[in-house]
Amino acid sequence: MNQELPLIFEIASPGRIAYSLPECDVPDVPMESLIPADLLRGEPAALPEVYEVDVIRHYTALSKRNFGVDNGFYPLGSCTMKYNPKINEDVARYPGFAKIHPYQPEESVQGALELMFRLQEDLKGITGMDAVSLQPAAGAHGEWTGLMMIRAYHESRGECRTKVIVPDSSHGTNPASASVAGFRTVTIPSTPSGLVDLEALQAAVGADTAALMLTNPNTLGLFETQIAEIADIVHGAGGLLYYDGANSNAIMGITRPGDMGFDVVHLNLHKTMSTPHGGGGPGAGPVGVKNLLIPFLPEPRIVQTETGGYAISAGYNRRGEDGGSSIGRVKAFYGNFGILVRAYAYIRSLGPEGLRQVSENAVLNANYMMHRLAPYYEMPYPGPCKHEFVMSGSGLGEYGIRTLDVAKRLLDFGYHPPTIYFPLNVPECMMIEPTETESKQTLDGFIDVMIAIAEEARTNPDILLTAPHNTLVTRLDETGAARKPVLNCTCG
Ligand SMILES: *Cc1c(COP(=O)(O)O)cnc(C)c1O
Repeated sequence: MNQELPLIFEIASPGRIAYSLPECDVPDVPMESLIPADLLRGEPAALPEVYEVDVIRHYTALSKRNFGVDNGFYPLGSCTMKYNPKINEDVARYPGFAKIHPYQPEESVQGALELMFRLQEDLKGITGMDAVSLQPAAGAHGEWTGLMMIRAYHESRGECRTKVIVPDSSHGTNPASASVAGFRTVTIPSTPSGLVDLEALQAAVGADTAALMLTNPNTLGLFETQIAEIADIVHGAGGLLYYDGANSNAIMGITRPGDMGFDVVHLNLHKTMSTPHGGGGPGAGPVGVKNLLIPFLPEPRIVQTETGGYAISAGYNRRGEDGGSSIGRVKAFYGNFGILVRAYAYIRSLGPEGLRQVSENAVLNANYMMHRLAPYYEMPYPGPCKHEFVMSGSGLGEYGIRTLDVAKRLLDFGYHPPTIYFPLNVPECMMIEPTETESKQTLDGFIDVMIAIAEEARTNPDILLTAPHNTLVTRLDETGAARKPVLNCTCG
């Protein structure tokens, strides 16, 4: 591999041109008449002057340095880095979806509105909820949207409820979202078997409880078996139940948060439903609610008209106007539309049976891997697990090896490491999510490497301590990179 990829500035040379704009066919207007003179540049921007072929080669070379689901196994727990069928990408690129504008008149975008309406209906069916908003742009955004609705609900009843309860096995975004929505969070511990401690929950709920946020399966990969009791305790105290459904890959088509008694749920379409993610976006975190929260849903929503067409319900229910109660808009326009198209194509191409099979295979793959790795790594919560499991590298401590070293060594074998050091309640944690889209060969290949690494830890720990060896850069100073990043370069 070519280690020395020059900067595009370093291959530039004055006078080279990659692209020429067509001749201007409208009257030339002096720039000064359009933009205030003090905002105009004195001299041209220092852009690299290169040929088209240089641009293509430069960015293609950069793209090959990326690791993605399309070039390797990516068992990053909690992130559901599964393979995304390309047909869903094709559909999202149809010009009728990709080239419309949100300001177009409703009658000219009926197809897009119908797709969003149908997706709302499908997500209602998948979650068991009474209504869905597609606006939130991420899981955490969905959480915040749900909590703002919960807040508006309690306020509308004249109740002052300030606390949100989160088990310590919930996803880290849960307490963060609760805090941003203006609540105080109360963390309750898990039992030794990794489930919500009902006694601790009972002791924590009270007249000030606004909601409980439950991640299920929880971050240990376990299904919360006492959900009916949890729901009774929280509802009995007048609180609402929030379901973090970001990881639906184990339950979709099998069970539904709505049937378990939850009042709000969000899904991560960019995990479960066919959007490649990582690197920060875009995503979609639709929220589903039960009837009692419908008045508080974000506006606008996509609705069906009496004549069978589709419309945008903008502004009929704004809070503070004519007795409206909606929490308002949470995202420009209608959410990340391209993600919604992919999700709709995904759901429709699999159908109810296919979605169930996804969950069953995701769970099967995780349990297979957990079972085969159990003799070599510590399993603090021996299965069965759902779509992912946690194991610990603490058994390698006697050879001076940490989980970080195992993760770095995996890079040498061409694998993306699993999530490490999360969840926080498992020392030297590795959180592995194989997903349903991987074959047995792929799973076995990874398992064999993990076993070989455990063996290396015993016989040749140095090779782990100095890993990775086959990558473009070797081990980075991660603290330095995070605390004192050097993000510019001086070209000479
Ligand atoms: C990924 C995840 C989230 C957050 O989703 P974002 O889209 O990254 O904001 C929340 N909860 C769980 C359980 C998750 O796995």
